Amino acid sequence: MYDSIVIGAGIGGSVIARELAERGKEKVLVIEKKDHIGGNCYDENDEYGILIHKYGPHIFHTNNERVFEYLSRYTEWYEFGHKVVADVKGQLIPVPFNLNTLHMVYDQETADRLEKKLVEAYGMESRVPILELMNHEDKDIQSIADYVYKNIFLEYTMKQWGQKPEEIDPSVTGRVPVLISYDDRYFQDRYQGVPKEGFTPMFDKMLDHPGIDLVLKKDAGELIEIRDGHIFYLGEEFKGKVIYTGPIDELFGCRFGRQPYRSLDFVFENHKTDDYQGHSVINYTVSEDYTRITEFKHLTGQTLPGSTTIVKEYPMSYSGAEGQIPYYAIINEENLALYEKYKNLTENLEKFYLLGRLAEYKYYNIDAMADRALTLADSMIG
Ligand code: UDP
Repeated sequence: MYDSIVIGAGIGGSVIARELAERGKEKVLVIEKKDHIGGNCYDENDEYGILIHKYGPHIFHTNNERVFEYLSRYTEWYEFGHKVVADVKGQLIPVPFNLNTLHMVYDQETADRLEKKLVEAYGMESRVPILELMNHEDKDIQSIADYVYKNIFLEYTMKQWGQKPEEIDPSVTGRVPVLISYDDRYFQDRYQGVPKEGFTPMFDKMLDHPGIDLVLKKDAGELIEIRDGHIFYLGEEFKGKVIYTGPIDELFGCRFGRQPYRSLDFVFENHKTDDYQGHSVINYTVSEDYTRITEFKHLTGQTLPGSTTIVKEYPMSYSGAEGQIPYYAIINEENLALYEKYKNLTENLEKFYLLGRLAEYKYYNIDAMADRALTLADSMIG
């Protein structure tokens, strides 16, 4: 018999399973619906021998020492400062928009003047959300905000979310601020990179513990049932802990309606060349139907002459259809209210925990997810 059941073998599920098994000395069952572990961090070699991220580019970045140390138990790192450029009518400019970008898109005299104003208004090394920059009273600063809004945010956000930047939760566009800095990197965190051998081997090692049993290709609904405020495992009441990392609505047959998400269609292409685009990620901020092109070799450091694989991301809404994946929670008042309705149904369940992007309806980064799982483990194990 198990002490705990973890549903989902993504970041949160894998970290908490390992913690309960190792630190808590528990017997843990992990049930995963997909045919692989690692959730959306999953990577694998494609048919051309290129290491690809099946669910889009995942770059680990953090300032959290505990998380970095923890994951470093299971992997070495290929460390690099992740950089992104935007294709604006053929010109490739650094994103987030920073002082280098400023000097690329304005003539020198104007750029010098605007830089001085930005530094005076916000201070060097500050991070200003685009929606905040737009509200600045200075006309010059407003003109920069206008350029950034039109050329970096508006169309990309329309593609990604089907809504304008000002219509979505400010925390989403706030992820990519305007940087009053010459730092060209996408993230400013101390540690950044990808696991040297890939994400999947890192999760493999994490789940490789005598206290953990892993079952793949199994819908948790076939093994677990919630009825009258109790949890049943294979027909018998389960008194241990259950950590659920799947979509909360599916736990209750979507009885109040589906929790809305944005999904993506990933279109992979292999090209017979050493280097397709010279960058790991190019964002298409004013053109194309896809949001970005990722070229994996630039992310993973893999060298393989004469062949490279890229992926284009086409955003779409999520209907729950077979094969579609819910990637991004759409944070707004209405959706959060729906989430609360579902969450209330779990409130009277004993030792039942919701964890992760889907179960908590949140936009977690890898490090934040690992941190949340570690903190939850702390509260369980003490
Ligand atoms: N964004 C944008 N243009 C860009 C990059 C980001 O408009 O070139 C906006 C867009 O709304 C996006 C959000 O900022 O959804 C967050 O971007 P991030 O790169 O963090 O998204 P993720 O990598 O998580 O998909």
